[in-house]
Amino acid sequence: MLNITGIDVYYGRVRALDGVSIHVPEGKIVTLLGANGAGKSTTLKAVSGILPVAQGEISFIGKPLNGVPAEEIVSLGVIHVPEGRQIFAHLTVEENLRIGLYARKDKWNFKTELEHALNYFPALATRLAQKGGTLSGGEQQMLAIARGLMGKPRLLILDEPSLGLAPKIVADIFTIIRRLNKEGTTVLLVEQNANMALKTADYAYVLEIGRVVMAGEASVLLKDDRIRRSYLGGH
Ligand code: ATP
Repeated sequence: MLNITGIDVYYGRVRALDGVSIHVPEGKIVTLLGANGAGKSTTLKAVSGILPVAQGEISFIGKPLNGVPAEEIVSLGVIHVPEGRQIFAHLTVEENLRIGLYARKDKWNFKTELEHALNYFPALATRLAQKGGTLSGGEQQMLAIARGLMGKPRLLILDEPSLGLAPKIVADIFTIIRRLNKEGTTVLLVEQNANMALKTADYAYVLEIGRVVMAGEASVLLKDDRIRRSYLGGH
């Protein structure tokens, strides 16, 4: 569904990605692992058109994404839930959710879309009139994902959804990710919680200083000695 082939991405003159290739098959969950600064967020930003690709190709359902404006990429159903949530603190929960519709080109009805998103996040239903900034960290993450759902994702890109959240909330968020996937959404997930990520994903890629250094089935990588030492605390 998503094919990233040999991409290089630069920040000014600094090369952040060096020939990265990643394949995300339709209906699967693929996770990117790696230390801080390895290039995970950069890869996601290249896919969603936030950063330009200097070399290599990205295609989604057979369409080249190189040079396509970010808004058009959203319209294709590639929805990026960024690291740090980036919800609008001064807007209400409902207004934040409405923003998720901005690039939809199909016919939609706000109430129907809202019900669909709230079905995954019922805790938000009682908070629609509350300002986004008054939500807890976990609720803000849920709002960020719910806003993504309003965009009707075919490919949902999640950058560090568990960052800074309590274990119970992290477990809830992963349950929702699995449910969304079971119901047909393909997921590309960046996670610092490698254990959770490998248990949830079908395939995993490991990035080190802008390169893919390992890739394979998540269940296999979960048992790999190098992965255990570097990303799973050596147990
Ligand atoms: P993290 O989990 O810390 O976000 P990451 O694997 O997602 O790590 P990236 O954010 O993709 O890493 O960063 C890859 C490289 O690009 C790093 O060396 C980083 O310092 C550099 N970098 C990231 N953003 C910028 C920027 N806006 N300007 C310059 N360099 C950047």
